Amino acid sequence: QLPLALMLSLLIGYITWLASATRMSFSWEINLGIAAREFEVFCQPLVRARDRHCVGVEILLRWNNPRQGWISPDVFIPLAEQQGLIAPLTRYVLAETVRQRHLFPASEQFHIGINVAASHFHNGVIIDDLRRVWFANRPEQQLMLELTERDALPDMDYRVVRELHQMGVELAIDDFGTGQSSLAYLERLHPNVLKIDKSFTAAIGTDAVNSTVTDIIIALGKRLRINLVAEGVETEQQEGYLRRHGVAILQGYLYAKPMPIADFPRWLAGDLPP
Ligand code: C2E
Ligand code: CA
Ligand code: CA
Ligand code: CA
Repeated sequence: QLPLALMLSLLIGYITWLASATRMSFSWEINLGIAAREFEVFCQPLVRARDRHCVGVEILLRWNNPRQGWISPDVFIPLAEQQGLIAPLTRYVLAETVRQRHLFPASEQFHIGINVAASHFHNGVIIDDLRRVWFANRPEQQLMLELTERDALPDMDYRVVRELHQMGVELAIDDFGTGQSSLAYLERLHPNVLKIDKSFTAAIGTDAVNSTVTDIIIALGKRLRINLVAEGVETEQQEGYLRRHGVAILQGYLYAKPMPIADFPRWLAGDLPP
């Protein structure tokens, strides 16, 4: 009979092996998925609070994996970040979006928001990718990068931030208020936009603590003259509140769910501003 300690260590070894094998197969899956074009770029409209006129879109990635079905980005994006695969995925998103840009209004007033990971800023990789994949195609629309404060940038990468501003790329802090270092990040990133996370939008009229945070974020944006975008707007009550408090741009199921870019022109055609 094997001693208990040995059995335990064998068991732990097996579990560790299994975990790394699963991770391996996951990065394989992502690479395969890119090659096999299993990823699809969806877009969700951003509208002006005043009249619901569409002023842009956010691009959201979808993965239709033939072996596992639809996988949520909340699952595969964090894994891709851990595996160092986020830059190839973002390049794919940029390339697919720029390829389909003719389905969006050809105007610099129209904003296209792309989610990016802080790790993509190291050594200015993001700048090279934008030049090669995005600007080489001369899209007419205004590019905006959405960066979460979850993974704040290391010091040296702020040079990249300055260069992006000089290139005319707009920056948004995503999920604002949910991270740790909001205020320091705010000062260093000089963002054009603060995106109010949907958890704060959902709190309007229901949750006293979080709706106070919403009010403070709005006040902060106004004082610093940073444009505010609220995500996750689902009800007319939320829309009314945000509009009255001066949040100019709104995004959420009340206007449209994320859709394939191919469907966007039809959605826009039904969007008749008063
Ligand atoms: P996010 O950037 O905060 O995007 C907003 C999320 O809220 C999206 O979830 C969107 O579908 C969802 N949403 C929009 N309106 C409403 C609403 O009215 N109610 C509710 N309950 N939800 C709403 P999604 O598409 O599942 O994406 C989840 C997260 O995955 C995103 O959060 C983003 O952090 C990440 N993600 C998605 N696509 C990409 C990408 O191409 N690159 C990177 N790096 N991250 C991505
Ligand atoms: Ca976002
Ligand atoms: Ca602009
Ligand atoms: Ca969010």
